[in-house]
Amino acid sequence: MTAPRETAPATVLDGAAAAREIYARLRERVAVLGGANIRPGLAAIQVGDNPASKIYVRNKARACEEAGIHSEVHGLSADTTQAAVVATVLKLNRDPRVHGILLQLPLPPHLDADEIMQSIAPEKDVDGLTRPSLGALVTGYSSFEPCTPAGVIVLLERAGVPIDGRHAVVVGRSTIVGKPMALMLMARGATVTICHSRTRDLAAETRRADVLVAAVGRPRLITGDMVKPGAAVVDVGINRMPDGKLAGDVDYATAREVAGWISPVPGGVGPMTVAMLISNTVLSAERSRSAPAA
Ligand code: NAD
Repeated sequence: MTAPRETAPATVLDGAAAAREIYARLRERVAVLGGANIRPGLAAIQVGDNPASKIYVRNKARACEEAGIHSEVHGLSADTTQAAVVATVLKLNRDPRVHGILLQLPLPPHLDADEIMQSIAPEKDVDGLTRPSLGALVTGYSSFEPCTPAGVIVLLERAGVPIDGRHAVVVGRSTIVGKPMALMLMARGATVTICHSRTRDLAAETRRADVLVAAVGRPRLITGDMVKPGAAVVDVGINRMPDGKLAGDVDYATAREVAGWISPVPGGVGPMTVAMLISNTVLSAERSRSAPAA
């Protein structure tokens, strides 16, 4: 028999509620831009008909509506050539109605995703994943922060989770999530450990975390016994289980008994990622207002 828990279960980091607050504030900024005859616009490029990608693109278009911004989807067939996708990006780079360009991944295997991504103009890179954007992040300059780690930071800050001087552990070292996440936590004063597939004793590392971010893609890898009591646990993972349901990288049932804060899947980081994308698009439109005419 386990001893009764002395403290309450973790506070839920509610990404859906946080995203709604963000859209409300964005609508005010969009109204100000409207006064200057600017309507922020997001263009999504989707190649092929990957069902998950279609759902993501549809969710992003819905979020654009919620924030009151223009959205357009450029659907290209699965056999589109590299040159044709790059040409689409270059056309959108020049289109003044488009302030943000989103390349929905994954792409069909015959395409070079990196080359296409790098053809996005840095001032329209609202996903924050081109080399100029990531370089700016490393060197501390303001550009567009990658949406998923930016969403994690907003979730933590909204809940008042202390970061400065604390120990953060990021599990996963991808360019999209893990690496920028570590940089953004470090920029806010955390001492950061990055764990990955070659880490020898993952549990020993995660147990030292005041802030634990899991971005792996392995369902329920992080169990309650791997969590430091009172820690903030943020679950980035999205894993489709055989029964069709979604599971995170964290075993929510056991981790919530130990953690101080925890984000659910779904309803945690997912809605925040989309909100940050829309937020970056509005920021891009605001910047275009003060940019010198080309
Ligand atoms: P990725 O496959 O590029 O990277 C996974 C990382 O996990 C790698 O760095 C790898 O070294 C590490 N890893 C693998 N096995 C491990 C293990 N046993 N122990 C420790 N580390 C291990 O994945 P990604 O693109 O960073 O995505 C990670 C997860 O986050 C996926 O489930 C993805 O679907 C999800 N994701 C969610 C959002 C969102 O909006 N919520 C956004 C992006 C990605």
